[in-house]
Amino acid sequence: MARRGLLIILSSPSGAGKSTHSKRMMAWDPTLRFSVSATTRQPRPGEVDGKDYHFCTESEFRQMVSDDEMLEHAHVFGNFYGSPKAPVKAAIDAGRDVLFDVDWQGAEQIKDSSLGQHVLSVFFLPPSIAELRRRLESRGQDTAETIDKRMHQSWDEISHWRSYDYVLVNDDLDATEARLRTIVEAERQRRDQQPDLADHVRALQDEFHEEG
Ligand code: ADP
Ligand code: 5GP
Repeated sequence: MARRGLLIILSSPSGAGKSTHSKRMMAWDPTLRFSVSATTRQPRPGEVDGKDYHFCTESEFRQMVSDDEMLEHAHVFGNFYGSPKAPVKAAIDAGRDVLFDVDWQGAEQIKDSSLGQHVLSVFFLPPSIAELRRRLESRGQDTAETIDKRMHQSWDEISHWRSYDYVLVNDDLDATEARLRTIVEAERQRRDQQPDLADHVRALQDEFHEEG
């Protein structure tokens, strides 16, 4: 049975585990497509251009926005971030699910877009604020100043938790991943994700009447 692609949005305050779970989901199901965002932020050590992000200048970013190439975009922690539209459309048309690591502003815009009915949104909460700081520090990729800035803004992101379909406390990594997989597998079976169901029911009906 054919299936429509889902737009799977993962959001959380910085450091709560979005990239970790995105990578785990991609390893679990290689048919998933990751939406590689464009950003004006500087690459972190180990980040690969075109894989983690499309790193670009502010003028390149503004050009993409004015050319209507972005599905959504936002200003986060002093940098611009946005999801290019074309790869998402191509993947969804091919029945593939697309994974997004975006903030609440991006999630709102994607839900309001023409693809909004195919959105599955998941928000990760940290087990505690102290653990959130520990995770940001243990990641070891941001300066103390950047970590403080992100900690200060974490409540702004957390305050949007009610807008998401599912909210997971990312305590134990494996247990949270298992819950996320269950959610994705169930959402794939949603009636409006299965475009051929009506035809199948019609065929069942014909067969039913023939038998009767
Ligand atoms: P985000 O993408 O939300 O900013 P990351 O996925 O980069 O966050 O996670 C931040 C840090 O916390 C990383 O070092 C990651 O390995 C660690 N981490 C993520 N989830 C967990 C978890 N459930 N338990 C312990 N550490 C975690
Ligand atoms: P980071 O700099 O840690 O990679 O990401 C910072 C924040 O920007 C995170 O909340 C992340 O989800 C968000 N983000 C990353 N890419 C996008 C995007 O394309 N659009 C939006 N709206 N937010 C993004």
